[in-house]
Amino acid sequence: MAQKEMKKEKSKGIGIPGIEIPKNNCDDINCPFHGNLKIRGRIFEGIVESIKPSKTAVVRWERRVFCPKYERFEGRFTKVSAHKTDCLNIQKDDIVIIGECRPISKSKKFVVLGKVEK
Ligand SMILES: [Zn+2]
Repeated sequence: MAQKEMKKEKSKGIGIPGIEIPKNNCDDINCPFHGNLKIRGRIFEGIVESIKPSKTAVVRWERRVFCPKYERFEGRFTKVSAHKTDCLNIQKDDIVIIGECRPISKSKKFVVLGKVEK
């Protein structure tokens, strides 16, 4: 019986300009660079508020909402949980880019794509 040789797929770009492939490797299935996760939908930039042990980063960013009564903009925050892979070395207070993907778990439908250098 001929054993089908599993060729290890090289890390590929994800089709989003400005996102570089990380140098480190990982074996996460839910990695956009080394796994099978596809990025589609919206892309945001935010600050990592906390890192959870279950490969999760809580990312927060500010959006502006127009307030008709005072005719001014007020700042509101959006907070989401994003999947964090091992190939990206993400720490607290980093500025990261996150992309929308399929739901990975109950509360995770974003994945961290990269770090923004200050
Ligand atoms: Zn990876």
